[in-house]
This record gives sequence, C-alpha cells and structure tokens, in this order.
Amino acid sequence: MAPIRLHDTRSGKLRDLVPGPGGRVGIYACGPTVYDRIHVGNARPFVVFSLLRRFLVHEGLAPRLVINVTDVNDKIYVAAAARGVPSAELAAEMTDAYVRDTDKLGLGRPDAEPLATETIGPIVALIGDLIENGHAYAAGGDVYFGVRTYSAYGELSHRELEDLDQGEERDRKRDPLDFALWKGAKPEEDIAWDAAWGRGRPGWHIECSAMAEAELGVGFEIHGGGSDLVFPHHENEAAQTGAARGWDLAQIWMHNGMVRLEQEKMAKSQGNAFALHRALEEFGAETLVMYLCGGHYRQPLAFSDERLAEARARCAGIRDAVRRLPPGPTPSEVSLAGDFFAALAHDFNTPAALAVLAEQLRRLSTAGAGRGVLSEMLEVLGLETLLVSEEAPPEVRALAESRARAREERDWTAADRLRDEIAAAGWTVRDGPEGPELVPA
Ligand SMILES: [Zn+2]
Repeated sequence: MAPIRLHDTRSGKLRDLVPGPGGRVGIYACGPTVYDRIHVGNARPFVVFSLLRRFLVHEGLAPRLVINVTDVNDKIYVAAAARGVPSAELAAEMTDAYVRDTDKLGLGRPDAEPLATETIGPIVALIGDLIENGHAYAAGGDVYFGVRTYSAYGELSHRELEDLDQGEERDRKRDPLDFALWKGAKPEEDIAWDAAWGRGRPGWHIECSAMAEAELGVGFEIHGGGSDLVFPHHENEAAQTGAARGWDLAQIWMHNGMVRLEQEKMAKSQGNAFALHRALEEFGAETLVMYLCGGHYRQPLAFSDERLAEARARCAGIRDAVRRLPPGPTPSEVSLAGDFFAALAHDFNTPAALAVLAEQLRRLSTAGAGRGVLSEMLEVLGLETLLVSEEAPPEVRALAESRARAREERDWTAADRLRDEIAAAGWTVRDGPEGPELVPA
C-alpha cells in the first residue's frame, strides 16, 4: 500500500500518515457552533472528513472520526436573547437541525459527536491542571492562558507574538496576548457552571482541547477543521494541550478551504440556497457532495450556479454510464482503481480522483466491460447512490406508455406532445434497441 500523505499546516509540508496500533487513525474535526442552521461552508469539513474516513477504511485502516458540537458560546447567548428563548433551548433546537441536515447528505454519522455542555468535568479539570503548572491564572472570576509561558506559541499558525490579536476584550488579562479559558458569568447569560475560581462557562478553545482528549487521547493522528480556525482557535488548542500534557495534541493539522458565496452570480431564487437544508432541497445530496468533491479540499470553492450545474451534470453522466454498462467485475487490465486511490492517497485529491473516474467510464464504455470497480470508487466519494438507476414515477411511466402506443399508431403529433409532457416532468424518453427507456433529464 502506498503511504497516505496529507498536508500538515504546522510543518507546511506533506506528511506521511502514521497510523497507531491496529491501524488506528484518530480524527478530530471542529464542528458547528449551534446558534443557527448550518450553511454549505460548515458542511464542507463534515463532508471532507466523513469521506476521508471512508477512504481510510478502504485502505484497511481503523479510523475514528470525532466531530464536536459547540453548544455553549457567546453567539448562542446573543442569538437566544434576540429570539427571547433560553440559550439551552436554542442550542438543543439547532443541534437537532444540524443532525437532521447533515443526515440528508447520506454519509452517515461521525463515530462520536461530543457536546461541550456534556464535557464540563474534563474541561474544568484541564483548566485546573494549567493553573497548577503555571500556564494559566484566575483573575476576577475569569481564567486566562498566559501565552508567553508557552514557547511554542505561534508555531501552528506561523505567527510572531507581536502580530497576535485574540479578538477578545477582557480587561482582567495580565497581557493582551492572553486568552480566556473560563469566562465569569455575566447577568445576561442564562447558563453557567460552578468551578473553584468562580461560576461561569468555558471558552471555546478549551472545550475542543478537552473534548478531543476525552475521545481520542493526546497525540492522535489528524486534527481538522476550516482554514479560518487555524488562528486563534487551533493555535490555542495546541497551546493548551501542549502546556498541560507536554505532548502535541495531534500529529497532522489538516485544514479545508472556505466556500465562497458568490451572491451576485447566483440566480435570485437561489440566493438563500447557501443554508444547507435549502441547498439540499434545491440541488439534492448527490449534487452537493459531487460539488464539494470537485474542488481540492485545501482550496477555496465558489458556491455558484456554474459549479453546481457542473456537479449535477457529472452525476447525471455517471448515472447514465452506469445504466449502459453491464454489471459484474471489471477486468484488471481495464481497471483504474490503482490510479483512483493513489490520487486520494496524495493529499486526498478528490478532483484528481474524479478525473480518473471519468477516464474509467470511457474505458469501460469502449471495452463494454463490467462496472464493478465503479462501486468501489463511488462508495469512497459518498456517491454510491449513483449506481442505483432511478425509476420514473408511475404517472411518467403512464405517459411513456401512451407515447409508445401513439408511435405504433403513427400519430406523431400525439407522440411529440407526450414527449414534451414527459420532459416537463423532468424525464427523457430514449428509444433504444430494447424499447423506450426513461432517464432523468
Ligand atoms: Zn474546535
């Protein structure tokens, strides 16, 4: 098996993935903050890391994917107050919606989905350890991490201490570089926990350090998330765990690029299709997953009509090719499985894998060979549903039967009208050697 190489943000290089005993690959990806429905940009890491897990299983490894839910956060307090509901109620509602929406992608669930509010014990214990070893200090009900106490600070995001701005305004800090591990309760915040240094709630960064350690230990294989999280979120996670445990949180830090909403390029009716549930209604799971696979995970990806139309056409092309190819195993001299999985082993290059898949379809068609290898490829891309040919609904089948009768009676006007009605319902009639066939338009 060729080594699997992934780009590591900390070293800025491709690194070999070194699995643990028994092929274990722990993956922790930062999940959503549940203050609103998630959008396609939030869905990208869910898709990238769910598909990476499928690939690792294909390679005979034993991945364990953890995607957390941040259910206590400033944004949740603010959004709940604006709606006049308790923050725990809003967080629970949006967590349910997130699970429902991501379920519809058809990729299954992560192996664990810890909630910050269910990890308060380990979070408080980790903060206690940092205070004890001198990397953190309590101040007026808050607790801060002393950035200058940790010499490796800035290594992950490649920043100099002088350039840092934590984006926090708390005046109890000893140093403006420091960041909050615990925030003392404010009167307008309706949820808080007791701790030795005062009643309050955890900061976002310490939540992830504690959840990752609780699920995967420290020194696990891959820590992932969007590239917008490299600083300060992941820099701070790395510092907290490094300072408390004397060990790197993760071996490879893997970041996906942003999805860019090109509002002006989207048709007006699709302007709000950026919300995942709307995008799923508008385009369907196959098109969305294909769209996300169409860009390399590290690159930014435009959310535009053109890219989505391209993804839809690719799905239709594969489904069409599958329909024409005989079932059964693919002879090895025609199979491109080696190239396909080698593309994924090289920094999970899904667009390169899709190019191999397109070439594979051409080869199979030319040779009239069995399509077996396609299921292996499509399964890893989360697109195995393309193997199942879609059956037209009964009313469309009835129209097709009427058209066949009209043609037998040489009533071409009626046949043409029925063909147009079938097209209006989203189907095309193809008159093949085995009689008329309905395919999605
Ligand atoms: Zn996180």
